[in-house]
Amino acid sequence: MQAAVLEALDRLVLKEMGVPEIDDDSALLRVESVAICGSDVRILHHGNPRVKPPAIMGHEAAGVVVKAGKNVTRVKEGERVALGADVPCGQCRWCRTGLGNNCEINYAVGYQIPGAFTQYMKLPRLLLEEGPVTPFSEAISFDDAALAEPLACAVNGLELAGMSLGKSIVIIGLGPIGCMMIDLARVMGATKVIAVQRSLKRMEIAKAYKADVYIASEAEDVVARCREETGGEGPDVVVTTCGSVEAHEQAIEMVAHRGCVNLFGGLAKDARPLNVLSNTIHYKECFVTGSHGSTPRQHEIAVRLIEKGIVRVAPLVTHQYPLSRIHEAFETMESRQGMKIVVHPQL
Ligand SMILES: [Zn+2]
Ligand SMILES: [Zn+2]
Repeated sequence: MQAAVLEALDRLVLKEMGVPEIDDDSALLRVESVAICGSDVRILHHGNPRVKPPAIMGHEAAGVVVKAGKNVTRVKEGERVALGADVPCGQCRWCRTGLGNNCEINYAVGYQIPGAFTQYMKLPRLLLEEGPVTPFSEAISFDDAALAEPLACAVNGLELAGMSLGKSIVIIGLGPIGCMMIDLARVMGATKVIAVQRSLKRMEIAKAYKADVYIASEAEDVVARCREETGGEGPDVVVTTCGSVEAHEQAIEMVAHRGCVNLFGGLAKDARPLNVLSNTIHYKECFVTGSHGSTPRQHEIAVRLIEKGIVRVAPLVTHQYPLSRIHEAFETMESRQGMKIVVHPQL
């Protein structure tokens, strides 16, 4: 089989290798779709302490179980399954209470666990027992199912932001996550969705997602406009689905009294600290939360939301490549020309 192996920083190599052997407690997945995540690009160029080359990246994946060991009960041969990223260790306080994305070890597919930029991958015992492995129906494509992983992270963000019936929400950054959040906020009860984006290209795709208001952040005073759109009070929820420190500051500045900010997008390591007056938070009694990854429960919710057509992910797939063209796929991702770039290892 073929696999794309990260051999060193900036060195992703297509290799012929043997199909992984499975034992009684593991299963073999034929990978049909695997989307490139922003984190894959960061790992390729900057590394990650949890990824030790030679390693196989790729965690936004879906495929078919072609073999299951005799002790495996979680999946069956022939079943279509989607994978998430974060795999709870099952032992620590966080994992035992269902918050595996806060686990200190933070095992993840495509990190410590060999990932999906390959034709076949092993689903090891820990992943099958504790991790995000969700069977899905033929109603959706493998590409759609692969995107349950980023959607699960979006679910985590809006749960932490306390999204609920009748609230207004501002989403800053209309990449794939921001777009998914428009649909998600709606189904969680948002009565006003305000979408903010800098680049006009992404704005075009984002318009397939019916936010009530689209704001081009380059052309307008975002804070003033979001306040105006919410009757002068500010939005109940603000999510920053971008890596901009200014957006994080604007979010805290614009949020309503008792509102909630979710700092969803991580910032670059060398980003400057937030410049925020703590009295802004103090007087508004607002909440500032973060979010990182997702739990297996949220991954299952994400798969069901896609299956039912409640959150649409298909409009986000702008490019598809066979595994043999994975370098081109990464280049397209880095050029920011598209939204989701999906690799098909069987082509
Ligand atoms: Zn991802
Ligand atoms: Zn743990």
